[in-house]
Amino acid sequence: MTRTTIQLPLKPSSLGTARSLTVHRYGRPGARPKAYLQASLHADELPGHLVLHHLMGLLDAAPDAIRGEIAIVPVANPVGQSQHVRGSMIGRFDLDGGTNFNRNFPNLTDAIAERLDGRLSADAAANTAAIRAAFAQAIAAQSPAGEVAHLRLELLRLAHDADIALDLHCDEIAPMHLYTTPDLWPVAAPLAADLGARAVMLIRDSGDEPYDEALSKPWWQLAERFGNSAIPLAPCFAATVELRGKADVDDTLAAADAAAIYRYFQRRGLLAGDPGPVPVPLCTPVPLEAVDRLRAPEAGIIVRRAPLCAEVRAGDTVVDIVDATTGTRTPVKARADGMVLSHALLPFATAGAMVAKVAGREKLPDRKGNLLSE
Ligand SMILES: [Zn+2]
Repeated sequence: MTRTTIQLPLKPSSLGTARSLTVHRYGRPGARPKAYLQASLHADELPGHLVLHHLMGLLDAAPDAIRGEIAIVPVANPVGQSQHVRGSMIGRFDLDGGTNFNRNFPNLTDAIAERLDGRLSADAAANTAAIRAAFAQAIAAQSPAGEVAHLRLELLRLAHDADIALDLHCDEIAPMHLYTTPDLWPVAAPLAADLGARAVMLIRDSGDEPYDEALSKPWWQLAERFGNSAIPLAPCFAATVELRGKADVDDTLAAADAAAIYRYFQRRGLLAGDPGPVPVPLCTPVPLEAVDRLRAPEAGIIVRRAPLCAEVRAGDTVVDIVDATTGTRTPVKARADGMVLSHALLPFATAGAMVAKVAGREKLPDRKGNLLSE
């Protein structure tokens, strides 16, 4: 079965403008498993564009292999893609409302629960179907105020009933890594291994309401609310995949990543064919609270002292902040043993800016609140 493509128009926020989401679909509508992939919700994180371009090439070449259904949105944020200020794309934050595009997705658990009264049973498959139907109704009942709110709802609607929903991002300078929930780790593990992820962070609720949690959260919250052990926790494997760093837009890397996702879909029965054995994993998952976000104590040039993926000990210097106006060089140190997960792309820090991340192994006691932002 060949690809079909549709355009979903977004509610314009200003007169004389019109943007839309382009959605490519493969497989028979309603077939299972269903996968949904999107790239560049943070519009200036571009490696996912190229990975989906390569994945679509693989799917276009093997239409008979598709057992389930696949929906692909290569450009998940046409609003951010159009925000240019004097030659630079401002893709992470909505210039109008000021919000991060991957925060504040609506938590529809209450709205779903209202629609489930008397419909849940001891049958997990029936519960899954009932919750997916209520999820669709809850999304349809929302009234988005503007283009970005409408965009968020459309992205949820496209993936709310998916078995697999992958949101493709990237960090600044980083190796391959993933964010998902502890409940979803068993289904995430083969993907992490296929992609060669160097770190996996697990959290049920980061406090920031990112896209993947808007898809996974209703399941565990409904299970807790109704006390029903027949509400499955992992019918939707939603994950944020960080495709290395912003500059890692590369045909060779993207082709390998697309092939890894293709093999994962084979493992899940979505595509026919033998994926071979699962590769040896390159990491074990850690709680998101174990990731330290190192900040510059003052403004200056960032000089890297520990390379990407280096194992550091507590007290080791990760970067120096150099203030050439005073001649001072201030070390920024790891607070716990761990791996250098990311460095800043621009080697300049304002006072308080995040300059690197270190993925430790144990939760840091002060990592609370909005874990993706603070
Ligand atoms: Zn991102």
